[in-house]
Amino acid sequence: MKKIKVDALVVGAGFAGLYMLLRLRDKGLTIQVLEAGGDVGGTWYWNRYPGARCDVASVEYCYSFSKELQEEFKWPERYSAQPDILKYIEHTTEKFELRKNILFNTKVTDAIYQEDTQLWHVKTNTGQCYETRYFIMATGCLSVPKMPKFKGIDSFEGEFYHTGKWPHHKVTFDGKQVAVIGIGSSGVQVIPEIAKTAKHLTVLQRGPTYCIPGKNYPLDDTYLQDIYRRYDDIRHKAKTGSRGVGLTDVKGTGKSIKEFSREEAFKMMAEIIEHGKGTLGSLFTDVKSDPEADQIVREFLYEMIDRIVEDSQTANLLKPDYPLLSKRYSLGFEYLETYNRDNVTLADVLTDPIKEITPKGVKTEHKEYTFDMIVCATGFDGMTGAISRVHIVGKNSERLKDKWASGPRAYLGLMSHGYPNMFTITGPGSPSILANAVMSIEQHVEWIDNCIEYLDRNEIKAFEPKLDEEDKWVQHVTDIVKPFFISKGNSWYLGANIPGKPRVFMPYPGGLGTYTEICNEIAKNGYQTFLQKRSYVYE
Ligand code: NAP
Repeated sequence: MKKIKVDALVVGAGFAGLYMLLRLRDKGLTIQVLEAGGDVGGTWYWNRYPGARCDVASVEYCYSFSKELQEEFKWPERYSAQPDILKYIEHTTEKFELRKNILFNTKVTDAIYQEDTQLWHVKTNTGQCYETRYFIMATGCLSVPKMPKFKGIDSFEGEFYHTGKWPHHKVTFDGKQVAVIGIGSSGVQVIPEIAKTAKHLTVLQRGPTYCIPGKNYPLDDTYLQDIYRRYDDIRHKAKTGSRGVGLTDVKGTGKSIKEFSREEAFKMMAEIIEHGKGTLGSLFTDVKSDPEADQIVREFLYEMIDRIVEDSQTANLLKPDYPLLSKRYSLGFEYLETYNRDNVTLADVLTDPIKEITPKGVKTEHKEYTFDMIVCATGFDGMTGAISRVHIVGKNSERLKDKWASGPRAYLGLMSHGYPNMFTITGPGSPSILANAVMSIEQHVEWIDNCIEYLDRNEIKAFEPKLDEEDKWVQHVTDIVKPFFISKGNSWYLGANIPGKPRVFMPYPGGLGTYTEICNEIAKNGYQTFLQKRSYVYE
């Protein structure tokens, strides 16, 4: 079959793929972007369920590379909804004329490295074949929905949806008996929306989740003009700070929660929530790791649940029994309040587990429910899901799947030893989703772009991390996360939500600013931690 030759092949047309395309195209490289979806947007193309929004402030959850773009798109809300985020991505695509380099409805199936030519051969599900020097996975951290494997799932006769693959047609809940399975960030967002119009909503909860009430509000021109004036400073703070945000990163107390009286600590936490500024995790130094400190925060949150949720049995069911910061908690908008509605029931499927899906609904050990619709908000095969679904073969015919069988091994989350010239944007071992994802993406794209410029300038044909440097990085990620609850949580950060997936903490927990400094230093020193091959020998 005839191969289409390009300089770089990028997989994915979300925030990451689009910016990568723009940077490389501006260098004069020939680029092909391949996208499985029918249009641009990535996560924001697929996750179009009612209530979907980003809980990072919109004025920060957007590109910073163009001042003009930054100031011409009017974000309507503090936490704008999915249709507005998608509109922003489409607007960016049109503005920079990116669409012509993207092939939609096309999945990459195979990517095989050719050691003789130092090129990647890439195949798609539509039968196309490409030959490329640079193979770049911009497939996102949460792009493979996790469908629960209940017995009888295909027999259900009603409507069946996953939040992460929501249909394009209008879905109505009016007059319907609806079930939601899953109460992570997606469930917390979709539940209040369904409850508004469903005849009855039953939330099938396995483990409860921490949900902090969020403060959303419309943004007016005065607010936006003020942001535009301060943007340079906000972005600087975002890029040098740990979480990729410059606006809401309020200074913590720098003290243990135990240095305050219970009343003082509760008051400070209530204020943080009331004003929607900052996070409970950054208010005190020890909430991330000290069980006693965590217990104080938990008691505060339990009191909050008791205050909001009228039925005490439901309130008790909504109280998680694990440390707050052992998992990602959600920002909720009328989530807890939804359980006060007459048409909403919380069912505990931890003590009464789901046995099977029947043609008419759900059977648990002790009950049988009838539903017109089941909505799964059951999460994703995070970080490695999309990468491991491509048959990637590197040097010595090694499959990436085999190399990563006991957990992903990558250097800086950017490259993996044995896979020259293959880059991953927000890959495992990078801050990615532990920071504002758009800032993580910009940092990666710019680093890759500069790296490619260096490779081309120096006529380096093959470039990959040294194995010992990769090993050290993987160990470093494991070591720095160890003291914190997050290293042991039952979360997708560790692959704990996917049966059989190795439990390895995947994102880099040291903060975006620190990570950026490390990456920049490596580049400044001539990429000495990488093997660099000009002709047939590594230097
Ligand atoms: P998630 O956090 O992994 O939550 C999945 C939920 O499904 C959990 O409640 C889980 O219960 C439940 N579940 C999974 N399998 C089940 C089964 N077989 N039976 C019963 N319950 C089952 O997934 P998510 O809510 O989609 O969120 C994933 C990530 O997406 C978030 O952490 C976040 O990074 C991102 N996200 C962000 C936003 C935002 O506002 N920025 C919004 C949505 C999503 P257990 O806890 O018992 O396992």
